[in-house]
Amino acid sequence: MANSPDLSLVFTLVFAALLVLGLLAKFYLASRQIRHVAAHRDQVPAAFAATISLQAHQKAADYTVAKARFGMLQTAFGAALLLAWTLLGGIDALNQALMNSGLAAYGSLVPQLALLAAFGLISGALDLPFTLYSTFRIEERFGFNKMTFRLWLADLVKSTLVGLVIGLPIVALILWLMGSAGSLWWLWAWAVWMGFNLLVLVLYPTVIAPLFNKFKPLDDEALKARVTALMQRCGFAAKGLFVMDGSKRSAHANAYFTGFGAAKRVVFYDTLLNQLSPGEVDAVLAHELGHFKHKHILKRIVSMFAMSLAGFALLGWLSSQTWFYTGLGVRPSLAGANDALALLLFMLVVPLFSFFVSPLLAWFSRKHEFEADAYAVSKTDGKDLQSALLKLYQDNASTLTPDPVFVKFYYTHPPASERLSRMTPLLPTAHGASA
Ligand SMILES: [Zn+2]
Repeated sequence: MANSPDLSLVFTLVFAALLVLGLLAKFYLASRQIRHVAAHRDQVPAAFAATISLQAHQKAADYTVAKARFGMLQTAFGAALLLAWTLLGGIDALNQALMNSGLAAYGSLVPQLALLAAFGLISGALDLPFTLYSTFRIEERFGFNKMTFRLWLADLVKSTLVGLVIGLPIVALILWLMGSAGSLWWLWAWAVWMGFNLLVLVLYPTVIAPLFNKFKPLDDEALKARVTALMQRCGFAAKGLFVMDGSKRSAHANAYFTGFGAAKRVVFYDTLLNQLSPGEVDAVLAHELGHFKHKHILKRIVSMFAMSLAGFALLGWLSSQTWFYTGLGVRPSLAGANDALALLLFMLVVPLFSFFVSPLLAWFSRKHEFEADAYAVSKTDGKDLQSALLKLYQDNASTLTPDPVFVKFYYTHPPASERLSRMTPLLPTAHGASA
């Protein structure tokens, strides 16, 4: 393994600088958002004055501010925790304890898997107070939470088990490749990881999602006929239309389109069907179909493939550099395997870098939303899409007056005002046709 104390120090400094820079940027953005939303709290923007009440506008402002404040607390805690795991020696201590435990007698794979599992469980446990507060304080206060503590607990147990059952074998396979597939292990590991992702995409709608929600076929015949006609008009085979009991957890509404080829299915949250008229449901579905027509899903998968190939190649190189470990406060084993350590440190460090490219990804996502909106307007009544979006933004208490810089950084969906104003010229009435 290449060793250099100087590189180790340089890497520590880069890591610390990025951590501080990221923290400052996140705090700056959140405080901008809070100030901007609070400053516009007392007046509904003119374009929405006729459709949104002052009360709804203020609820959205308070919800947005509450979430942003809580997000700042979470960000600060996350940064402190990252420091504790790395430079302050948390991972090193955990790793040494496992290496020196009886587990080492079962070969090098077992203590390595134990390290990743222990890390996952500990960080999951430390995250629990935040999830609890967010669900039972913030979401509850604004009337969105529909979960009982019992259901929350059942979800936690189930998702932990699903994570272990699915995660451990794939991680074991990747660790094994790292240890035995030679210097090109990262290429094999990437192929395995991609295969795994595709498998999850296929299994999620049919095997994983039903563990958490009930899906029943859409039985409203009128709506079914309408939706089927829309799908035919857009050239999609209506394979399965389902209603999901989203209302058992949250009042937030949604619809999505999942699966590949013959396994494609449309899923409506029951909350969406309760809040929207049939025409509006049609428009929302047309928007989702627009994502497929414009190949957004495919583009997302292909870019994920490319980014993870670059990631694995980088990991392949970093895992053989001693400074990568020592620079992050970890003593690599000189004789044994350090693969789990490398994976873990890599997963912790990558977000520090990727945070700074997130505006680019968010920009692409917003561009795709505009394209899907335009498609929906061309296939359904654009007025329906406008009123559906307005209802959804209002029901989800999304603010109409977000800070523009915050939007550029974080928003994967454009603010309501931008979506509606982009759509207006596309509507037939805007061209002078009689209303
Ligand atoms: Zn969309």
